[in-house]
Amino acid sequence: MINENVGSTSKTVQSVLRNEIKHLPLVPSAAIKLLTLANDDNAALDDLSRIIETEPTLAAKILQNVNSAAYGLANKVTSINRAVNLLGFSVVRQLALDLLFYDHLINNKTVKNSAKQMFDPLFFWQHCLFVALLSKQIANTLHHPNPDLVYTAGLLHDIGKVVLEYYGRISYSEFISTLNNSGHPIIENERRFFGLNHAEIGHVFCLEWQLPEAITAVVACHHNLPDALSPFAEFKTEIAIVAFANYVAWMQGISSFAQEGNPILQNSVLNTFDFNVLDIDNLLQWVDTQMQSTREFYGIQFPSVNKLRAILVKTAINLSQGCLINSDPNAAQAHQKLLPSLTVPHQSLDPDEFVPRTLEAIQMAFSFDRCLMLNIDAKHRCLKAAYWWPKSIPLEVRQLLEINMGQLSGHFLQGLREKKPTIIKETLPPNEALLQQLGITEFLMVPVTNHNRLIGLLYADNWISNIPLPPQLPAEIEPIANELGIALFNAKQYDTQKRCAQLDPLTQLSNKRMIEDFLTQVFKENKTQLGKIAVGFIDIDKFKLFNDLCGHQAGDDVLKIVADIMRSLTRPGDFIGRYGGEEFLFVLKNTDQNGAYGYAERIRVEIERRGKILSQRFHDHALTVSIGVVMYHQSYSNYTQIIELADQAMYRAKEAGRNKVIMLADGAKNCDYQT
Ligand code: GH3
Ligand code: MG
Ligand code: MG
Repeated sequence: MINENVGSTSKTVQSVLRNEIKHLPLVPSAAIKLLTLANDDNAALDDLSRIIETEPTLAAKILQNVNSAAYGLANKVTSINRAVNLLGFSVVRQLALDLLFYDHLINNKTVKNSAKQMFDPLFFWQHCLFVALLSKQIANTLHHPNPDLVYTAGLLHDIGKVVLEYYGRISYSEFISTLNNSGHPIIENERRFFGLNHAEIGHVFCLEWQLPEAITAVVACHHNLPDALSPFAEFKTEIAIVAFANYVAWMQGISSFAQEGNPILQNSVLNTFDFNVLDIDNLLQWVDTQMQSTREFYGIQFPSVNKLRAILVKTAINLSQGCLINSDPNAAQAHQKLLPSLTVPHQSLDPDEFVPRTLEAIQMAFSFDRCLMLNIDAKHRCLKAAYWWPKSIPLEVRQLLEINMGQLSGHFLQGLREKKPTIIKETLPPNEALLQQLGITEFLMVPVTNHNRLIGLLYADNWISNIPLPPQLPAEIEPIANELGIALFNAKQYDTQKRCAQLDPLTQLSNKRMIEDFLTQVFKENKTQLGKIAVGFIDIDKFKLFNDLCGHQAGDDVLKIVADIMRSLTRPGDFIGRYGGEEFLFVLKNTDQNGAYGYAERIRVEIERRGKILSQRFHDHALTVSIGVVMYHQSYSNYTQIIELADQAMYRAKEAGRNKVIMLADGAKNCDYQT
């Protein structure tokens, strides 16, 4: 599937680059030769020595490295042949590749001087080296037949970024300089900016240079694992290993550039191999030792290790997997017994309905005197009763159950941290203060999680009857809390889905219906608040030409870029939406003429700036917008009137030569007056 698209991608690649891809001195020819050497016969050893010996600086550096303390060789090695014999094919080739790649990146003379260099080659090189080393060691652990190949694939996985930085009409640095907190994955931002992403460029490059298929597969698919029908499906393991290592690198702060956002770890990566067999602590330590000796050789500062990282890696993976694993052997039995309470949470998508009913079911199964769901009040750092059973629990009793999270200690805190149901009792200090506050001798707390994140707490006790809580209770109730967590997650998803129907799918901004709903709501507010409302219309200038000159996809990208800029410059309480084709609307609250004009100007200027950076991509067609702004006035009877006036003001901006902001005078009834 990917190969079918390569033809058209090649064309796009060509339009993004300054030179033809085959003429790019991207990787020294020696590196290409090294990459295509297979380590499967004796001839390869000779070939390896010969390739290295024909590159005098490379040979010298390899000998220097081989003789460094890292290898601890007793006698000085003076020939490449000897180095290969002593250290083996794999070590020497790896060294040579590292050196060539490093030299090429760090000493590259082709970088355009004008561009602010946001893409730091050293930082990038660290990332590649880390991914390569970790990938190789994972391959070893998994008994992969060719860990060297996986190493090389790891080293080259982001080669597309190098191509863009050094040979792009618009450089990768320029791309980085435009990144804002849009929340989109980097790969999607690249597509928007360049028209294609670094994996696609890297793919075309690998084909052009006839690199081994497995390497090409990793470069092309490390952000998107191939499906069963893809020609790259057979390299799924190699791709998954590198994708995993790439994710770990990011978690260690060793991303390919400093501002890189969170990469997505696809579930399919974790389904390809069992990451639980990896001893992450040891793996990271090994990679660190290797990085350390490289650091010494090149005299570079790399990030240091700490053990916590292993825990961090596992936690984050569990998070992204959303796994709620219950390994308790008693749990299966309890599951049977508690079937009704396990199904109740899924009978509705509204927490107000299913949580109280679940509490009721729990109370029936376990005969607690009372059972509550406490939610986390992040602002006040406390746990607060959100739902309770029986319904008759009075307010003052519920208020007593408000638990300050700052004061937690002992088993309660441990239970929360480990997300483990726990019985808190007097005999287990130091919980006395809390028990005293509640006026009881013991209670059960059950953390409710979704995607391994704590979202609330089930609380139960026998405060009236004082019947002791049985020790097996936590294990029995845990599955119910899990179901409740999943149901709450589903409810949230449903809510998100509902929201999606209110969003414009292309830009993820509110759609016209939502804009109108919002304005209807705003116009119901009292007049004093309304006086501080501004409404603005933004229309992209000569937008049709983007479609005509660069294609519809590029037109869509322009719309997304404008939407992202608006998002990044808009305060949380304000409102932005896509009103139609290439028209956007904003509603500002708590503002005045100056504030509204200033906001519109910032948007206009930033869009113009981005357009200049992207001018090559858009065939020199300038990206600008015309904006019309209106402040609310009491003489306006409804919101349609204010939209209409903003629209008129925008047309005035078009008439005045485009790329302008026109602000309608206060209370004007048409656009003949302007400030
Ligand atoms: P002006 O400066 O006067 O606003 O000129 P313009 O070209 O921006 O305005 P015009 O209304 O003539 O053209 C708007 C074009 O926007 C026409 C339509 O095909 C295109 N368009 C509308 N929605 C989309 C979309 O979702 N994606 C793309 N790519 N194009 C769209
Ligand atoms: Mg990448
Ligand atoms: Mg337009």
